[in-house]
Amino acid sequence: MSISKSHGKGKDNPLMQYVLSHSMREHPALKKLRLRTMEESMSIMMVACEQAQFMANLAKLIKAKKALEIGVYTGYNTLNIALALPDDGVMVACDISETYTNIGKPFWKEAGVDQKIDLRLQPAVKTLDDLLTDGQAETFDFVFIDADKVNYDNYYEKSLQLLRKGGVIAVDNVLWGGKVLDPSPDDPDTVAIDRLNKKLHKDTRISLSMLTVGDGLTLAIKL
Ligand code: SAM
Ligand code: CA
Repeated sequence: MSISKSHGKGKDNPLMQYVLSHSMREHPALKKLRLRTMEESMSIMMVACEQAQFMANLAKLIKAKKALEIGVYTGYNTLNIALALPDDGVMVACDISETYTNIGKPFWKEAGVDQKIDLRLQPAVKTLDDLLTDGQAETFDFVFIDADKVNYDNYYEKSLQLLRKGGVIAVDNVLWGGKVLDPSPDDPDTVAIDRLNKKLHKDTRISLSMLTVGDGLTLAIKL
């Protein structure tokens, strides 16, 4: 793979290059979408490819059939997880931007998994409330939280209701480039992330791991 096109942490680090060149197995459509996304000015928002591959393996490990992505951007991880789901699997994808999500749609189709992706363009809190009202509590296997950081706690609480026991919530950017070490009160994103990190550490409804992959990824497993 083209290492320089990866978003992996320390991508110029030879050891990171070794990790990528000895482990990445991207579906051709996924690779094309990654390279297409790299042309965008906001491409830094795309998840690291090695993190995405890890989450796809995790989804397979727990035999996920129903997944939820909160914050799609161009849909790199949406496609990645959709590819990991069985043919009758469903990926509910939440975003507010038609411009961003339209970039990914042709690649979802090219990969032949577009029928698994249920894209909902409205504030994600509204989509999660709709799913709960629709009786879908305790039916999701895997959730990826990666939208606006100030809403992270709302996303976590609603996702926990939507998740089945043994299901996994993956919370992205939990290290926020290191800013969590010294959250400034004037920085609502860092404050929200740090607050959720502290809450999850004590939350007896889950077991957890905070991983240093990408920009920090917490896995919360519903007990
Ligand atoms: N998960 C994506 C990936 O793997 O490439 C990256 C997501 S990007 C960091 C964050 C996304 O959240 C943006 O596409 C943005 O439009 C979306 N977003 C921001 N506020 C939102 C909201 N209130 N509801 C839903 N999506 C929102
Ligand atoms: Ca992210």
